[in-house]
Amino acid sequence: MTMDYRAMLPIIDTRRRHLEDLRISVTDRCNFRCVYCMPKAVFNSQFHFLPRAELLTFDEITRLTRIFVSLGVRKIRFTGGEPLVRRDLDVLIRQISEIPGVEDLAMTTNGSLLTKEKALALKSAGLRRVTVSLDALDDELFRRMNDVNFPVAKVLNAIESASSAQLDPVKVNMVVKKGLNDDAVIPMAAYFRDTGIILRYIEFMDVGTTNGWRLEDVVPGKEILSRINQQWPLEPVPPTRPGDVATRYRYRDGKGEIGIITSVTHPFCQNCTRARLSPEGLLYTCLFGQSGTDLRSLVRSQKSDQEIVSSIKAIWENRTDHYSEIRSSLTPGLPKIEMSHIGG
Ligand code: SAM
Ligand code: SF4
Ligand code: SF4
Repeated sequence: MTMDYRAMLPIIDTRRRHLEDLRISVTDRCNFRCVYCMPKAVFNSQFHFLPRAELLTFDEITRLTRIFVSLGVRKIRFTGGEPLVRRDLDVLIRQISEIPGVEDLAMTTNGSLLTKEKALALKSAGLRRVTVSLDALDDELFRRMNDVNFPVAKVLNAIESASSAQLDPVKVNMVVKKGLNDDAVIPMAAYFRDTGIILRYIEFMDVGTTNGWRLEDVVPGKEILSRINQQWPLEPVPPTRPGDVATRYRYRDGKGEIGIITSVTHPFCQNCTRARLSPEGLLYTCLFGQSGTDLRSLVRSQKSDQEIVSSIKAIWENRTDHYSEIRSSLTPGLPKIEMSHIGG
């Protein structure tokens, strides 16, 4: 049965939040070992990554996405792990872009595999936008942060390639960790000002259980903002839509805009409209979720689309998540899904 994406009414959770976005993590593997995400001590040769047979196939992801779109989702983002390590990702992108009702199709990547040719292929497959993660411009520091000795120049080239393939507006995500790369806040702003690329500063978060997060290591968004504002005065920009995670600011001299993502110091749970699908088909309704609901077994047990719709609808309608609003000294120790498994 093919679903009519307009047939269903929008669904809302217990806090009156709509389901609007789906983040699809296509792999739990990554070619980087960023110290704040996949510390080498844990993600080493002994680590058990998902075997291929456990991953959702492209057809399974496409079917589930169509179902999510029937429930109100309009924006899709591919993430991981590193999404570009999943073979033939452009085939999946094409399938998803052909689903009626998908209005935005984006990807978050570390940029290591985003060559000019790849960027053009992704664009022609239907990808609209790319966010590239980059935490420093200093080559030595960047190599230390990705912990696989990857040179910064290649990521800067990837950002160029995304721009020239018109995967725009291209955004750059910078995680700021005190004492590690907070000295890079101003150089990064200087580099991306006046380029059309939107730099977004992200507070270091207590995702997962392996990155040794401590509140003292968080540089509050307010402080990041004030540092930049002293150098180049900023003014706020209204959000494009209520579900935006970044607070936007523009340079008063007209040289572009930045965003600040303050999940720790200024949570935005009330506007959180995101569902997250893990590589093996678990549905999470929060980045800090302790467990997900197994949609793969529904897909593989010949359930009808309607039955899967009912399951997802029930999960969303019962959703109560607001982790960042209740974060305390105790919550970071709770068992939680790793960021490298579910994506940002
Ligand atoms: N590998 C891709 C990448 O790095 O862009 C996609 C997945 S990665 C998990 C998604 C985003 O999460 C990246 O921008 C990364 O910097 C961010 N991230 C990872 N760990 C984080 C943490 N502990 N706090 C804040 N952001 C984090
Ligand atoms: Fe890999 Fe992205 Fe995590 Fe870095 S942030 S280790 S690139 S998944
Ligand atoms: Fe959404 Fe959970 Fe983050 Fe709150 S903590 S904004 S509910 S993902």
